[in-house]
Amino acid sequence: MVSIKIDVDACIGCGSCVDVCPAGVYELNDDDKSEAVNMDDCIECCACIEGCPQSAISHDSC
Ligand code: SF4
Ligand code: SF4
Repeated sequence: MVSIKIDVDACIGCGSCVDVCPAGVYELNDDDKSEAVNMDDCIECCACIEGCPQSAISHDSC
């Protein structure tokens, strides 16, 4: 299983990670911060890392 961490202070809630992830790993919470709610579904494509304008995502496979 992968480990994904979001820097909530850096996250601006742009939704890019939600849009680019082919596995539906991310959702925006009520505070407009990204959460990796379906981490088990990750296929390790690294699109989220490339798509985050804030470099707010840490992913142990990317
Ligand atoms: S590595 Fe790919 S599948 Fe995994 S969370 Fe990022 S965008 Fe989604
Ligand atoms: S792409 Fe980055 S800044 Fe945008 S919602 Fe996702 S984690 Fe936050």
